Amino acid sequence: MNSTLRDEYLAAMGIRQWVLRDKGLSGNAGTADNGSSGSDNPWLALQDRVAGCTRCALHTTRTQTVFGTGNRSADWLVIGEAPGADEDRQGEPFVGRAGQLLTEMLRAAGFERNAVYITNILKCRPPNNRDPQPDEVASCHDYLEQQIELIEPRLILAVGRIAAHNLLQTDTPVGRLRGRVHRYGTSGVPLVVTYHPAYLLRSPLEKRKSWDDLQLALQIFDGQ
Ligand code: URA
Repeated sequence: MNSTLRDEYLAAMGIRQWVLRDKGLSGNAGTADNGSSGSDNPWLALQDRVAGCTRCALHTTRTQTVFGTGNRSADWLVIGEAPGADEDRQGEPFVGRAGQLLTEMLRAAGFERNAVYITNILKCRPPNNRDPQPDEVASCHDYLEQQIELIEPRLILAVGRIAAHNLLQTDTPVGRLRGRVHRYGTSGVPLVVTYHPAYLLRSPLEKRKSWDDLQLALQIFDGQ
């Protein structure tokens, strides 16, 4: 995105300009996804397992699995719901319109997309973009767990209802989960909930709140 577009995005949310953080803007994205050195073995093994997964029925309708992308040593792990049609086609999470908005939100917060790691609760697309079913989430759960163990993020950003509910094991509405810090797993990594960018595309007035969520995440992260 060029800077004019970013300016417009921020202006549309009524947000003053930021001085961008150093992190992630230097082009240092850590270990890239396609690396194949010996130290990548756990990643490659996991990626292979996901690519060949037949644990649930979604393997019969997917074009390909969508494993995740970005910096495997990222401080921030962004977790969404599941691949949509664009992601299923391209094999990368958050590449459609919602993904573009997510990328812009991250950039406005000072992170290039490839400085964070981005993945989903599900690695396969649910047909017709329906909600993931409990058995599908359960089948995929340990893939995400292993990604979290490998990345050791300092902050998890759960985007949208499905991610928030499954990560926090709750059905509290996103509007009540956002605005505070949760803890994930035994390591207690801080977790911040925000709206899904697809929702923000439908409800642009809520962008202001998602910006507040990113600021909360930045505060927690900077305070660590
Ligand atoms: N929505 C998600 O939650 N994840 C994607 O990868 C794309 C859209």
